[in-house]
Amino acid sequence: MAADYGIAGHVAIVTGSTSGIGFALASALAEQGVHVILNGLGDPAQIETNRRELQARTNSSIRYHGADMTRPDEIADLVDFAVREFGRLDILVNNAGIQHVSPIEDFPPEKWDALIAIILSSAFHATRAAVPIMKAQGRGRIVNIASAHGLVASPFKSAYVAAKFGVVGLTKAVGVELARTGVTCNAICPGYVKTPLVEAQIGDQARSRGISEDRVVDEVILAAQPNKAFVEYDHLAGMLLYLVSDMGASATGAALSVDGGWTAT
Ligand code: NAD
Repeated sequence: MAADYGIAGHVAIVTGSTSGIGFALASALAEQGVHVILNGLGDPAQIETNRRELQARTNSSIRYHGADMTRPDEIADLVDFAVREFGRLDILVNNAGIQHVSPIEDFPPEKWDALIAIILSSAFHATRAAVPIMKAQGRGRIVNIASAHGLVASPFKSAYVAAKFGVVGLTKAVGVELARTGVTCNAICPGYVKTPLVEAQIGDQARSRGISEDRVVDEVILAAQPNKAFVEYDHLAGMLLYLVSDMGASATGAALSVDGGWTAT
């Protein structure tokens, strides 16, 4: 992106940034001169290639920490890693997520536990560890990647909707709690973005509903979005860069929709 958001030299953690939205947001920050700690699962060789390429094409230092977002001790170490590597932490993007689509009566309890841990509890643990650092700096930005499903529900997504509503609630509580500290906390609520997570859902929804994958896209996925278009990575990056810049100083405790009109209906 061409605009300068005045955040060069800041330090960011983006959880779940080995793929999809997380990697796109990490890249947008790195392109602004932000030093970024990547996190997430995947093939170590591929992660290292992506880390090197991002570092080579930006003016930023890019590190990787493999914390498992189901493990509070590893999440605390991820936040501490920012201080060990860079001596500060300016931006925390809680983005890691998984999905499971199933009728409630068949929903596997272990999937419920995993979704709540990775989407909701990880945001709590990372925020809890980051806040003392940001408060001491007198400035910080926490951005939670929630979802339109943090504001409205869809069938077969009980754990995801519950976790994302929880993320929006956490965002509001932390936002008001920190309102006089220079640290803001906001949620971005995207509509559908065509990432690996959504590609997998298209297949899962087709099985749950007993219809073809093309019909899932037309009648289920984009049926929810009045503009009939997937949200693009740049649309989310624009909102993130606004929030983490000085222009975002008055926005806190907000759940900001980027969803083609979905939650306006
Ligand atoms: P994705 O599957 O492409 O990426 C998910 C990331 O989370 C990956 O980097 C993965 O390794 C990481 N992750 C999963 N489990 C983890 C664990 N235990 N520990 C550490 N990292 C873990 O998905 P995405 O579509 O880019 O989703 C990113 C976020 O955006 C999620 O929170 C998702 O709910 C949210 N979101 C996505 C959409 C969409 O349409 N794709 C819409 C709204 C919100």
